[in-house]
Amino acid sequence: MKLSDVGLKYPELKPILSKFDGIKNLYPTQSDAIRMGALETSFLLASGTASGKTLVANLAAARTVLSGKKVLYLAPLRSLAFEKFSEFKKLPFRTAISIGEMDSSDPWLQKFDIIVATYEKAESLIRHRPDWLKQIGLVVFDEAHEMMRKPLIETLTIKLKWAQRLILSATIGNVSEIADWLGFKYLESDFRPVPLKEGVIKGSELVWTDEVTKLQSNLQGIEGLIEDGLKKQHQTLIFANTRREAEATAEKATRLIEGSVDVRSEKLEIIANEIEGALDYPTRQCKKLAAIVRRGSAFHHAGLVNEQRILVEKAFKTGLIPVLASTVTLVAGINMPSRRVIVKSPHFRGEPWPVSLYKQAAGRSGRPGYDKEGESIILHKRPDFALEYYINGQVENITSPLAYEPTLRREIIGLFASGFAMSKKDVKDFMGKTFYAYHHGNPDRIIEISMRVVDKLISWDMLSSQNSKGDFLAPTKLGKRVAELYIDPQTAVTWINAFEASSPLGYIHLIGMGDEMYLPGLKNSEKEELMYSYASRGEELIYPKPAPWDLEFEKYMKALKLSMIIEEWIEEKTEDSILNRFGIAPGDLRNYIRNTEWLAYALNEVIGVTKGKRNDLLKLSKRVRHGVRSELVELADLPGIGRVKSRRLYKKGVTISNIRKKSDALLTEVIGKSATRRLREKLKKS
Ligand code: ADP
Repeated sequence: MKLSDVGLKYPELKPILSKFDGIKNLYPTQSDAIRMGALETSFLLASGTASGKTLVANLAAARTVLSGKKVLYLAPLRSLAFEKFSEFKKLPFRTAISIGEMDSSDPWLQKFDIIVATYEKAESLIRHRPDWLKQIGLVVFDEAHEMMRKPLIETLTIKLKWAQRLILSATIGNVSEIADWLGFKYLESDFRPVPLKEGVIKGSELVWTDEVTKLQSNLQGIEGLIEDGLKKQHQTLIFANTRREAEATAEKATRLIEGSVDVRSEKLEIIANEIEGALDYPTRQCKKLAAIVRRGSAFHHAGLVNEQRILVEKAFKTGLIPVLASTVTLVAGINMPSRRVIVKSPHFRGEPWPVSLYKQAAGRSGRPGYDKEGESIILHKRPDFALEYYINGQVENITSPLAYEPTLRREIIGLFASGFAMSKKDVKDFMGKTFYAYHHGNPDRIIEISMRVVDKLISWDMLSSQNSKGDFLAPTKLGKRVAELYIDPQTAVTWINAFEASSPLGYIHLIGMGDEMYLPGLKNSEKEELMYSYASRGEELIYPKPAPWDLEFEKYMKALKLSMIIEEWIEEKTEDSILNRFGIAPGDLRNYIRNTEWLAYALNEVIGVTKGKRNDLLKLSKRVRHGVRSELVELADLPGIGRVKSRRLYKKGVTISNIRKKSDALLTEVIGKSATRRLREKLKKS
């Protein structure tokens, strides 16, 4: 089918078809899906990465907008949401991205035709019941195979039932079962625009499924594969299990690159400099990454800050670096194909990767329009096992992760807050519609857990009876707030019970004990220092102290480590000194900061309902955002100022109350010309 033929079936789409530059003929998957009705009815499209699913979604979105309705496009990661957002911007519609603060109904979204959001943000939006919700005519569920890790994909599919739902997924074992559950038409396809060759390495041979070839290198293992790729001028993306392994592999690659290809260029130098300058002061990791990039390789993992990840992706996408070593962060990440993919000993803690994860990694090989085939090679100490298990293996089925009490606690309070349930019966009916119930043939177990959860929510004063029989339930003020904040109700109860006035250390430790926080790891060598801090500062901790032999004690100490990290951050210690002292990476620190800022805000909101809001918590949240002491909060909050410049200004006698009176010359000296201009404009407006 030609793209122009779509205009014959849907004449209203004719004017926008020219926006899909460079696409003339549709891929078979696309034509089949369109013929089957994917542009007009709810549909499940399961096919590999880069098989062209997004185009189908874009065409369906265009139809929806042209009929006067809105589109909600959901992605599992912020980076993916950005990628889709920029693709939608090619269309002549008003497109917005909403991935920010969770506690907002974002009324400004009313003005937009297409709203791109993460799943979590969409759930939080729904809980605020925005006016525009019912105007949604199409919801696209991208990367829906993430359902096992994100239970809300399953429930959002049920909730948004008034809209056309287009579910896009990688190939999964039980596509037909999922489609039957929803009652949708579906298309399952293994089409790839670039054919894929899969193989394992055995000594100096590449054993493919259909032939055996010789490696063009005398080196062993990963080095042999890298050298072979360099000789053949194949850009190579390597997936490693750990950050350390990714870094070491990138380092090894630079030595091989140096001996064979000249990668130096002005553009690469610029990228390397930007990587080095991404933080106020370059850390050891920043310097290491920049040095590796200069020599033609790079590593990519969650320890990098976002700006650095984007720069590395750019260097690889534009072909400036021939080898990139990444952890699995890139498997599910943005569209970044490579001529060759190497999967290095795939296992997590001794267990093999799921086949689906390997297949997704392999799917990254072959750049449409550039390569006539892609190659995926597994490096494994048991190559025959790898061939049988991963390459010839079956992709796993998706199962429902919903029947788990902590998950249901968050889900059920949300059902009441967003008006999807007003009674126990409604909850039972909803649970009866889940994939869990469908798959198990009955909803008994999930209903049993759900009823227990409803009773707990009543006992926690988050739901209250609306009539004497107690069969109508409504969220209380507390319940509504907890639902909107999208935290576990159990966490809110812990906060309320344990709360007392404390220091930042005590507050951060309290929020660190909830499951919402991703805590730092604890090395044996650190335990002694932490015990010492615990002995001297334990008084400030307000979370009930577990006994040292209690399972919770380890978590308690990790939360203490987190509080100490954030305490140094808000005491204005340099990032580098924090990272060195606690053995963490810049990307981790950013994550802790973002989560702590958010949870300190949420803690204040929850405590606000039961005991009244507190200035010290509000201030803490702002201090965490900027990494400053109390006296700098307002200064650092000004546009373009932040942590370092606010301290410099303060040292020159500038405060929030006298900044308007200070001369341009003084401000320019400290923060530069353009920042001063922007600051003046902002101050004028406020
Ligand atoms: P998916 O959503 O399945 O991961 P994408 O829709 O992102 O895949 O497509 C991958 C790439 O293929 C994109 O760069 C896209 O522009 C291109 N593409 C999609 N459909 C076609 C087509 N029919 N012909 C040529 N290129 C296409």
